[in-house]
Formats: sequence, C-alpha cells, structure tokens
Amino acid sequence: MFSPQEIAKKAKERNLAVLSLTDHNSVSGIDEMIEAGEKQGIRIVKGIEFYTRFYGQDLHLLGYGINHKAKKLQELLEKARTHHLEWAMKVLKKLESLGYTIDFEDLKKIRSYYLGLGHLKDILMKEPQNQNKVFKEVQEMRKRKREILKKKVETIHEPSLRSVLRKYLEEFAKEIEEKRELTLFEVIEAFFGREGIAFIEGEHLDIPTQGAIKLVLEVGGIPVLAHPGQQLSWGKDYLIYALKKQGLQGLEVITPYHNWHSVEHYQKLANELELVITGGSDLHGDLMDPELKSQFIHNRWDYFRVPYEVWENLSKVISF
Ligand SMILES: [Zn+2]
Repeated sequence: MFSPQEIAKKAKERNLAVLSLTDHNSVSGIDEMIEAGEKQGIRIVKGIEFYTRFYGQDLHLLGYGINHKAKKLQELLEKARTHHLEWAMKVLKKLESLGYTIDFEDLKKIRSYYLGLGHLKDILMKEPQNQNKVFKEVQEMRKRKREILKKKVETIHEPSLRSVLRKYLEEFAKEIEEKRELTLFEVIEAFFGREGIAFIEGEHLDIPTQGAIKLVLEVGGIPVLAHPGQQLSWGKDYLIYALKKQGLQGLEVITPYHNWHSVEHYQKLANELELVITGGSDLHGDLMDPELKSQFIHNRWDYFRVPYEVWENLSKVISF
C-alpha cells in the first residue's frame, strides 16, 4: 500500500500531469493527495471507486470530480465501512474458530479507512504460530488445483499430448511441493476467496450501481464504469446500455484488465453510447513479493500509460 505522498512522488518520476486517487469506498486520502500533488506539480482530480451490484452482478463504479465532503456521500461511506468492519470481524472469528491465533486489536490499528484483504492476510501472518498452518493450507489449495488440472488432462483425446502433459504435471507437482513462498493472492484465495476456508458472504455493503451513479451525479461527479472487461463478458454489453440510461457518463477503457481486443471493443461501445473514455492504473500497491524485487515490473505503472488526451476529453465534462 502507498501513501498519497509516495503516489505523488512515483507519479512525478513517471511524468504524470494529472492523477486521481480512487480508493475503494473511501475518500479519506483525497485531501492529503491534493496536498501531495501540489508539492509535485501534479493536478489531482478528486475520485472514488464504489463496490456496487447491478441485479446480482458485481460492478465497480468510479466517480470523478466529486465533492468528497458532501454529507450524503460521507454517510453512505460510513455505512459501508461499518458493514465491512463487521464482515472482517466475522472472518477473523472464523479463523480463530479454525485454530488460528488472532489479535483482534490489529483491526483497530489499520490506517486505511476501508481495509483490504491484504490487511487480513497481515493480521493472520503476523502471529508466528499461524505461519506453518497457513503454509499447509495454501499447499492443500495448490494440490486441489493440480487435481483439477489432472482431470482436465485426462479428458484430452490425443494420447501423445495427454501423456506428455501428465509427465509435466507430475514434475510441476514436485516443484510446487518444495516451494516455500506464498503470494498474497494465494493466501487470499485459500482463506478469503469463495473457495477459501474463512470465506464469509457479503464482504461489501450492497450498493446498487444505479444508486451509486445517482449519488456521484448529486455530488457533482462524473460516473464511470470501471474496467468492464474484468467483470463482464462482451455478451453482457446490454448492462452498459442499461447503465447509460441510469446516468452513466463514462467507461474505463484503458486499464490493465483489458487486453487489446477489449480496449478495441469498449472503445467502440463508448463511442456508440457517447460515454467519455477514461483510463486507470488500478494500482493496489506493489504487485510483486519482496523476493522478486529484481524483476522489472513491480506495479502496473511500470508497463502502463494513459494518454494525455484522455484527460483533455474528461476535463471537458468534469466540474471542479
Ligand atoms: Zn475496481
């Protein structure tokens, strides 16, 4: 996780002219971000990203240029935060019931307004007596995944390919058995994901997408659908049409979640629906584990750019 100061510094190093901090369900970093941006000569656009649901479909909704001090917004965020903390308590209690040592005070020490799964992982891993158990659990998950792969390989008709894949899988199995490092994503998947042992339904407060769009408009912002390709298949474009009818004004076309074909696809859709195109790095801290520091790519900024024209177009519709 990066502080606003660190983000501004890194943005400056990469010659960014404009940036928006769009924390999940939180505006608590905006004032600090504006201050840090001013120091580095970077223009800051106030922003947020809501976890929302549209008739059972998870969607992330961005709001650019919002009045982050608006009471209505603050009230909703406080409600979402309380819900999320209660959910986190349930997860930690479940972990405790599974025999893990949990210091519940750790939850109060988290600086972020809206905690992430990485925080829960840190609370879990902080206790030395948990570490071996966590490792075993991740190993079990790796084994389960391998079993699924094995079954898939057995369905391959071509006998020579099937036998060579069988052999490779066995070799990989041995390597993985010996691998001691765990990635953040593995721990999240094994513990907090849908198949995880401490999974609890209802992580985020149910905010209907249309309600979030309305709120963003009410507090003077531009509602933009975040990384549609991550959550929707192209076959579900009708949802974006429906959101346009609800007041959606933009589509995040440029995002690390989109491959070239998705960029092409959503660019066309944005033009068709007259939605302003935006871009975002989806930065969630360093992507890499500390052991991999020698790699070139540490976070999404290292390979990813949003053209300045995107800002020029957005600035035409955004209010300040
Ligand atoms: Zn998102």
